[in-house]
Amino acid sequence: MVRRPFVAGNWKMYKTRNDAVALAKGVASKFATPDRVDVAVCPPSIYLDAVGQAIKGSSVALGGQNMYHTTFGAFTGEVNGEMLLDVGCKYVILGHSERRQFFGDTDEFVNRKVLAALKLGLLPIVCVGETLDQRKAGQTAKVVQTQFDGSLAGLTAEQMSQVVIAYEPVWAIGTGVKAEPRQAEEVHADLRKLIESRYNAQVASSVRIQYGGSVKADNAAEMFQQPNIDGALVGGASLEVESFLKIIEAAAAK
Ligand code: PEP
Repeated sequence: MVRRPFVAGNWKMYKTRNDAVALAKGVASKFATPDRVDVAVCPPSIYLDAVGQAIKGSSVALGGQNMYHTTFGAFTGEVNGEMLLDVGCKYVILGHSERRQFFGDTDEFVNRKVLAALKLGLLPIVCVGETLDQRKAGQTAKVVQTQFDGSLAGLTAEQMSQVVIAYEPVWAIGTGVKAEPRQAEEVHADLRKLIESRYNAQVASSVRIQYGGSVKADNAAEMFQQPNIDGALVGGASLEVESFLKIIEAAAAK
């Protein structure tokens, strides 16, 4: 199966409203290859509505950076999947390492969110990845398998096919130290084998696995040359139109 590359920009807790709208408009107006690559921007939740309006009618999709797993209720400060859909989201990032590290998101919690998102028709981008200590201790495969098993427990084959996985080694996020293409490819191939052994080859070949961690305009192409790297989840380099577009163009050329 030919997987369509997918590049998503995670804006984290950056930008003011005007800057977010300008960035979204810049990306949407210059994105020239919607037939070859899927693109999403994931602004802070308070700007989802404004950014959604700014990209309306374009080929750029909208994504949330997190969600709570229940329907409406007394959960101060939270945003649920219905709300993300209501402002036009197609995707939601779940289990980002910053959520796991700073906000206590466990595999079990991420799993509840993944199941809730899928039930609503929101497509989850589920992040997994090891810390530097875990890599140095030779635990990468085990850590990623545990996160895969826990965060993606209980999904039907059809649900699994809708999930995007982002392999994001924690030591490469925001550090400027990107994984070597072959290092990342090894983990991506392992993840595909995990999907195949739980489901089947067809599901495994349909799931898109993004790489994330210091992807920049000048290093994206070498990552996308790897057979199991289907795009990128981009932090810092998604905060400017030109650098994000170059990464998108590199994915379109895959
Ligand atoms: C991320 O936030 O998911 C990420 C990969 O960040 P950066 O590209 O800045 O390393």
